Amino acid sequence: MRLIILGPQGAGKGTQGDRIVRRLGIAHVSTGDLLRAAVREGTPLGERAKGYMDRGELVPDELVLDLLRDRIREHKSGFLLDGYPRNAEQAKALEEMLTEMGGEVDAVISLEVPDEVLIDRLSRRRTCPKCGHPHTLRNGEPTVCERDGTPLIQRDDDKPDAIARRLKIFHEQTKPLIDFYDGQGLVLRIDGVGNMEEVEERIRRLLEDDA
Ligand code: AMP
Repeated sequence: MRLIILGPQGAGKGTQGDRIVRRLGIAHVSTGDLLRAAVREGTPLGERAKGYMDRGELVPDELVLDLLRDRIREHKSGFLLDGYPRNAEQAKALEEMLTEMGGEVDAVISLEVPDEVLIDRLSRRRTCPKCGHPHTLRNGEPTVCERDGTPLIQRDDDKPDAIARRLKIFHEQTKPLIDFYDGQGLVLRIDGVGNMEEVEERIRRLLEDDA
């Protein structure tokens, strides 16, 4: 099963992605996570990507593609792509890569959440600098990572200017991809407002109906 999950920042792609891959036994390939790991490890690619990421801009296509190619090759029969593609060039590059490997995308999950809900969620997001696990602040809590106890931070790209920039890029560049994949009959639209279990159940039902 080869899936893509599309949606704006803060829609819950990472959280729902984790649950989908666990249930289906496929690999979770998140370009945001791969890039953040490269930044943490201080690799040459990470050094080049960091400034773009902190500002909430897209990292140049070729840097992301290099990172992605190896992961897809490793898991070519079963993966969920999260955070890729983000524009028409990336969608084209993905199509070429999959054709080369002899495969295609089975379904595209579009996780839909209004901007005002996203802005509220993102401004309350605090992340573990060590493992990357995200948390949502309520009344100033939590202050440390629930997985490893590291004090949480606010990612630079979760600050107001960067949030606005990322949403603008989503609407201008990424959202048109939903129509592109819709034209191929691949899109499953999911209402992403609600608690984690409700949204997970909606995805599960739609994927089963689609199978
Ligand atoms: P995410 O966690 O998916 O929101 O990604 C965090 C940041 O990584 C984004 O704001 C971009 O700077 C960068 N990034 C992740 N995926 C891509 C991609 N497919 N193309 C370009 N930049 C990306």
